[in-house]
Amino acid sequence: MGTYETDTVCPHCHTHHDRASSIKDEGEPGPGDMSMCIQCGRWATFDQHQGLRKPTAEEMARLGRDFDLPKLHLAWVMAIARGDTKGGMKGPMRGGAR
Ligand SMILES: [Zn+2]
Repeated sequence: MGTYETDTVCPHCHTHHDRASSIKDEGEPGPGDMSMCIQCGRWATFDQHQGLRKPTAEEMARLGRDFDLPKLHLAWVMAIARGDTKGGMKGPMRGGAR
């Protein structure tokens, strides 16, 4: 699992994030890659400028086909329970978005 420095803001809860971890080790996030906000647990999509935007319904449907979303949500709940919420976006950055 790779961890990368980012400078992003969650489009849902507006939390600033300075890093992202990938569940697959395929390099830095690119446009269309998706990430889960460790603060609010909602999904965002990387744009062309390494920023984040709210995902489209189509992107969420594709994410649901490619990953077990209830399991990912459970992992987030467990991270919250451990207090592991500082600073990062975590999720499948290569979530079938390409
Ligand atoms: Zn958030």
